[in-house]
Amino acid sequence: MTCIFCKITNKEIESYIVDESEKFIAVLDINPHAPMHTMIIPKEHIENFVDLPPKYGEELINFMQKIIKKISEKLNTKDFTIGINEGKSAGRAIDHLHIHIIPRFKDDKGGSIHSVVYNPPKEPLEKIFKILKNES
Ligand SMILES: [Zn+2]
Repeated sequence: MTCIFCKITNKEIESYIVDESEKFIAVLDINPHAPMHTMIIPKEHIENFVDLPPKYGEELINFMQKIIKKISEKLNTKDFTIGINEGKSAGRAIDHLHIHIIPRFKDDKGGSIHSVVYNPPKEPLEKIFKILKNES
């Protein structure tokens, strides 16, 4: 197994473990884009968010909320960008699911999620909507 995140979750390599639950671990990102930039990583090697078993959902939400509240207290901010780079085109560097928890501050020079891509569709929304609803 060469996956670096599996090595982190198996504690084969050292990392800054903020907290852990039964199925997830929270570690500081080693290339932080903000103070206390943290990643939530499943302990199992799960590549994509869509492959995460739905039964892990409640634990994941509780764990994420716990980490966000802790960082919120330490940094005195309630603002966060929370996100997943799902796949190579989205900028994922390690093929093991990780959810970024990035604390945000007024005037921190960051943008919203909308600033990561601008590739609007050429078709009108009605057409796209019909495709999604299987009506075309
Ligand atoms: Zn892995």
